[in-house]
This record gives sequence, structure tokens and C-alpha cells, in this order.
Amino acid sequence: MRLSWRLGVVLVGCVGILLLLPATSPGPPEVIYHNGVVLTLEDGLPRAEAVAVRNGRIVAVGSDDDVLALRRSATRVVDLGGRTLLPGFIDSHAHWIGDGSMVGYNADLAIEAALSRGWTSISEQFVNGERLDELRALDAAGGLRLRVNAYLPMNFEDEKFGHWFRGFEPRHAYSPHLRLGGIKLFLDHDWGTDFHWEQAELDEYVLSAHRLGWQVTAHTISAEAHDQYLTAVARAQAAHPNPDARHRAEHVIQLRDDQLTRMGELGMIASIQPGIPGDLAAEAGFPELVARGETGWIARWRDLVDSDVRTIGSTDTPWLVLAVGNQMPHGSPLEAIHQAVTRQSHLGRPPEDWQLAQRLTVDQALRLFTIDAADGTFEENVKGSLAPGKYADLAILSDNPTTVAVDALPAIQVLATIVGGQVEHCADTTLC
Ligand SMILES: [Zn+2]
Repeated sequence: MRLSWRLGVVLVGCVGILLLLPATSPGPPEVIYHNGVVLTLEDGLPRAEAVAVRNGRIVAVGSDDDVLALRRSATRVVDLGGRTLLPGFIDSHAHWIGDGSMVGYNADLAIEAALSRGWTSISEQFVNGERLDELRALDAAGGLRLRVNAYLPMNFEDEKFGHWFRGFEPRHAYSPHLRLGGIKLFLDHDWGTDFHWEQAELDEYVLSAHRLGWQVTAHTISAEAHDQYLTAVARAQAAHPNPDARHRAEHVIQLRDDQLTRMGELGMIASIQPGIPGDLAAEAGFPELVARGETGWIARWRDLVDSDVRTIGSTDTPWLVLAVGNQMPHGSPLEAIHQAVTRQSHLGRPPEDWQLAQRLTVDQALRLFTIDAADGTFEENVKGSLAPGKYADLAILSDNPTTVAVDALPAIQVLATIVGGQVEHCADTTLC
């Protein structure tokens, strides 16, 4: 046993490869989840039956026989009873904590709400100095029960906040639950009729952040905003080449073919909300945006996923739902996956033909909220899939999203949410 424990990979079992953590985590698993449908999001072993956890990390993934063989007297064994276990979901762009008060959530309620929907990581996209202090205090007090990437805003509309990112270290981790993701710019508003930056000023800002190693994220709606942003990123890359800068465009509503190609060339990430346009398609200004170009340039999620532009998914909670006047945020990854696959809105507005052409498969949509999302914050080595050495960030679902009828996706229940091996949400006590 001790010998095989120290092997990186052991070829055994009907499921295929039993993956073991090499030598760094001695001792038996604390918990084994078995008899499940395990969606690993790992290309080498996409399906498994069991997962073993120790010290907040995954130590083995494989068949029931192989993983249960690691069991010792102190190991807690959880029978999944055929239910689905997958990586905890990652919401790449949201305001759960920062703006949760808009829908009646204080920080604790916002965190509880996110956990209950299966999120184990969220990127908070507007964390100013005051909000960063609050997150740090919450974390220090043990109240930050999921992982947060904080994005520091540099402007809001025409108000500029200066170069305050210079006082911080890019991607600094305050703890395993709180980290600086990057900086956030807003380039346009009101469906691309209101612009906030002169090109030269934007170029200077993006270059100064890029040169210091910051990931830049930018709220970009219109093709004009994408022109501005891509120009600034291209100039920063020309001045200071970094092939792995992963600068992100947030929302990416109107994107021409040449811009999609250029994003790929610049190694950029598209951060999308599958819930868009949804009900917003009927909002004042949206039809005008569509009319300013080709319908095929709008919310082209399929084109992005099929391209070499890394694409990540999010809910923008609570803003997407607030925008259509519904006071309670949905913010469920399963609902977002349903929207990606059907392009239906929260309120049942049917999609146009040009939207139907941009539907994703469930497998593609799942990646947006797991492994590809981990790429969006440079955390693909610790998050987003089930593999030895990664955080034991897990969600247990009542059903398998890759096999249920599409209409049944939003009704899948999140039975448990586990962050770093710790059960943080439990709706079925047989599992927790
Ligand atoms: Zn947002």
C-alpha cells in the first residue's frame, strides 16, 4: 500500500486510471465519496465513480474498487447512491457579496445563497478599498466560506480612481479563500452609447497594469469598446510581451469577426454570461445595438467556444436579474447552463433564430463554470476539475446534467457543496 501510494499513476480498474497524489500527502483519506457519477472535467479520465479527500485536497479519483481500497478505519465513507459529483462551480463575474444588498443579502446571506447553488468560487468584480477591507475582515473571522477572487475597479463610468492597484501585488493570496484576481475597467455603458476612456489614457492604464503583471478585465459591450480595448491590449503586448497575460473582456456582447480573431491572437479570455441577452433583448437600447451591426455579432457564445479564445462563464449576480425588475437573484449554475443550451430567458422570452445558432452543448457549458473558469483566474492547477492535488471543492447534484432532458436542467438540486473538503451546504444529510 505504502509503495503504491507513492506512485503518481497506477493503471487499474474498469473505469481506467486511478489517479493518486504523489507522495505529498501521506496518510489515509479522511473521506471517500463513492458509488457516484463523477464528472471530473479532466480529459484523461472524464468519468469516475469515487473520489478520496485528505487535508482539503483530492488525493484519488477512480473506480469504486480502486478508491475504496485506500480506506482505513478513520476514513469516513459516503455513499453517493448514484448521484452526481463534480467540481464545485466557479462564477467568474459576479457581485454576490459586493452588491448583494441590492436584493436584500448581507455578506453572510450572499455567501450562503452562493453556496446553496453549488458555487465554491466566485470572482467579485467590483472590490474597492473599503470592500477589500470588509472581505479581509470576513475572511479573518472565518466567514468567507467560499473562495473569492477580488477585482479592483479603476473607474466607474467617467469617474476614475487612479492607479491604486500599484499598492498591491498581482494575484496576492491573503488566504486560501481570498485572493486578488486583477483590475477592472469599465469601457462603455448604455449598450455602447456612452464611452468612458480616451484611447491614449486607456493605453497608458492597460500598459502600466500589464507591465506590473496584473490581469486586466474590462467591461466591454459594443464593437467600438472592443476596438478600444483590443488596441490598448495590443499596444501593451507590443511594448512588453507576455504570452500568458490572459486579459479578459467582460460581457463581450457585440464582437465582429476580426475582433474575435484578434482576441485569440492576443491570448485573451472572453468572460460571458449565458443569461445575456435573455430578457435584456427587450430592454431599451438593445435592439439599437443589434441594429448597428450584424445580428451574428451579438452574444456569439458558440463562436467563442469554438474559437481559440478561452471562454469562461458567469451570472453577474445580482445585476442580470435586477435589470429585468425581478427582485430575487437566480444565480444558479444549472440555470445558467440551461440558458447556454437553450438561450431562453429567466422570464421565458423565446430566443430569436440568430440566438439559436449560438447555443452550446451541456458539456461545453459545464466547462464555462468549471475548468475553463479556473483558467480565467490562473488557478487551473488547483481548481475546476477533479484530480489529485487539487482543492477538494465539490458539488453533489441530484442528477447528471449531461444526461437529463434539457428542460430538467434548472430543476437539478444541489445536495451538497464542499469547499476545501469542508461541507458548507448540505441539503441531504445522508451525504454530509
Ligand atoms: Zn458585473
